[in-house]
Amino acid sequence: MRSAAALAAVFGGLALMAAAAGATDRNVILVTLDGVRIQELFSGMDPLIAASGADSGIYEIDVTRARYWRESARERREALMPFFWGTLVPAGMVLGNQALGSKVTVRNPLWFSYPGYAEMLTGEPQPDVQSNDFVRYPHETVLDYIHRTLRLKPTEIAQFGSWDGFRMAASQRDGTFFMNGAYDPVPAGLSTPEMDYLVALRRQVMEQWEESSNDALTFRLALAYLMQNQPKVLWLGLGQSDDWAHARRYDRLLDYLHLADDFLEELWRTLQSLDQYRDRTTLIITTDHGRGRTPQDWVEHDTGIEGSQDIWIAIIGPDTPALGEASGHPDVTQSDIAATMLQYLGLDHRDFSPDGGPPIPGSLKPRE
Ligand SMILES: [Zn+2]
Repeated sequence: MRSAAALAAVFGGLALMAAAAGATDRNVILVTLDGVRIQELFSGMDPLIAASGADSGIYEIDVTRARYWRESARERREALMPFFWGTLVPAGMVLGNQALGSKVTVRNPLWFSYPGYAEMLTGEPQPDVQSNDFVRYPHETVLDYIHRTLRLKPTEIAQFGSWDGFRMAASQRDGTFFMNGAYDPVPAGLSTPEMDYLVALRRQVMEQWEESSNDALTFRLALAYLMQNQPKVLWLGLGQSDDWAHARRYDRLLDYLHLADDFLEELWRTLQSLDQYRDRTTLIITTDHGRGRTPQDWVEHDTGIEGSQDIWIAIIGPDTPALGEASGHPDVTQSDIAATMLQYLGLDHRDFSPDGGPPIPGSLKPRE
C-alpha cells in the first residue's frame, strides 16, 4: 500500500499540474500610457489649466471646451475617455482616485520614465536606474520570469513601444523574447505585408521628438502582431501623452487621451473577437509617473515636482472582480503591478521576487 506521504505527493503533483493547466489558457496584456495624470483620468479636462490662459497651452479654447468641458468631473472624464469609463471600468476596476480614498503611487524617488518602468516590471524600485539612457540592467523582469517559468517560445512574449526605453526596460538581455523599439523592423517569419508597411510608415511619420515613433502606428503594429502571432503576454508602451504635455499643449494632450481611449476600445474588442483571447485575457492599463499639479508645472515631472508620484491602475479580465472605481481601498504602489500580472497566470510572485510588491488587494476573483 502506498504511504500517505506518497499519496499526498501524487495528489500534490496533480494539483500543481491542474494549476499549471488552468494557468496556460490565460493571457495578460499590459498597456502603458506614459505620464498620464490622475487629474485627467479621473476628472477629465482640468478646470485649473483651462482657466490659466496663456499657460494652458490651449490654442483654441472654444474648440477644446466644446470637446471636453462639462459641468461635472464625471461628465468630463466620460467625454474624454468614453470607452474607459463607459465599458472598461464598470466591468473591471480602476485604482488611484485619491478623492475616494484609493491611492496609487510610485515608490522610486525619481518620478520619471525608466525608473518607473523598471519598478513596474521588476516589482520594486531599482536604485541603479538613474537615467532614461537606453541600457539594459541586470534585473530579471516579470516578462523574463514568465518566459522562463512557463517555457514560452520567444514569440509568445512580445513588447511593442514607441520609445527605445521600453525595449530596454522589457528584459535584462537582448533577444530573450520578441522586442520592438521605436523604429525596429519585424523579422520575416513573424511579419506580414501589413506590418512591413507600418514599419515603413513609422520611419516616415515624423514624431515630435526624434526618439519616439508615432503611437497610432505602434498600436496598429502591435495589433497586427497579436493577430498573426498570438502572444500570451504583450506589453504595449505608448508615449505621446508625455510628449504633448512636455510641449505644453493641453489641447493636444486631451485629443491624444481621447485617441488612446479609441485604441483601448479597438484592442479590447479585437481580443474579445479571437478564440485565443476571448474571456481568458486580462488587460492592465497604467502609467509610469504622474506630473505636476499646478497650471505652471503640469507639463513636467521629476523628483520634487509634487504630483509626479501619483499614478493609477486599471484592470479588466475574466479573473478580475467588477469593482468599478475603487473607493476606500488599501494603498497600492507601482511595485505591485508585476505580482498582479503573475497572479492572473497562476504564478507565485514570491518565487519571482521575495521582496517585491504583492498582488493588488481585491484584484483577483475568489475561485469558483
Ligand atoms: Zn516625460
